[in-house]
Amino acid sequence: MRLKKIKGAEEYVNKSSYTIQDYEKYYKNFKNYFQNSNPIHLEIGTGKGDFLIGMAKNFPQINFIGIEKYPSVLMKALQKVEKENLKNIAFICMDASTIDKVFEKEIETIYLNFSDPWPKTKHHKRRLTSPIFLQKYEHLFSNNKKIIMKTDNQDLFEYSLITTTNHGYKIEDISFDLHHTNRFNMKTEYEERWSKKGYPIYYVLLTKE
Ligand code: SAM
Repeated sequence: MRLKKIKGAEEYVNKSSYTIQDYEKYYKNFKNYFQNSNPIHLEIGTGKGDFLIGMAKNFPQINFIGIEKYPSVLMKALQKVEKENLKNIAFICMDASTIDKVFEKEIETIYLNFSDPWPKTKHHKRRLTSPIFLQKYEHLFSNNKKIIMKTDNQDLFEYSLITTTNHGYKIEDISFDLHHTNRFNMKTEYEERWSKKGYPIYYVLLTKE
């Protein structure tokens, strides 16, 4: 993603009531943050927030947390969510490489939407479905593991099907052209952009016991 740094973004993110600043404090105890025991779903690489805000509106009995590493991007999501009155959504500004230090046994579902493809082989380890990240996700799940992925990138999709199934995940559902099916779907910003250009959207639901 080409990033335009926005002046004041970091300060904005730090001040927003939808940002979990002191997230270390909630380790193993994010139910205290939301003040209920509803399931927690995580989107890693949340971008400008359309998906997560839409999900939070549609599923009030689920708590949603969005992880985004760049304040200039997260600020856009925060500006949108601040116009809503939602109690079941929050964001953390962090690099997902330390995600296993933030959550333990609390997450029901992870969404990976249009993750950066990192096309060069030497960068594959940075992919959010690399074996390194899959190992980190092991610590996060409360019970059975569930990852839902969408992308327009065929190479990333093929790579992810191999890494996840090698890691013990089972394919529960898959589509190579999500928009021409009748599955429930909440669009992301990237999804809107690439599908308008005629790209098919790949989708997979993976589970592991
Ligand atoms: N999910 C959004 C969508 O579908 O519109 C954004 C997709 S964009 C291609 C990928 C996003 O993931 C970017 O906002 C990027 O900053 C974020 N990202 C990539 N690697 C990350 C990491 N290791 N930790 C946190 N965020 C990350």
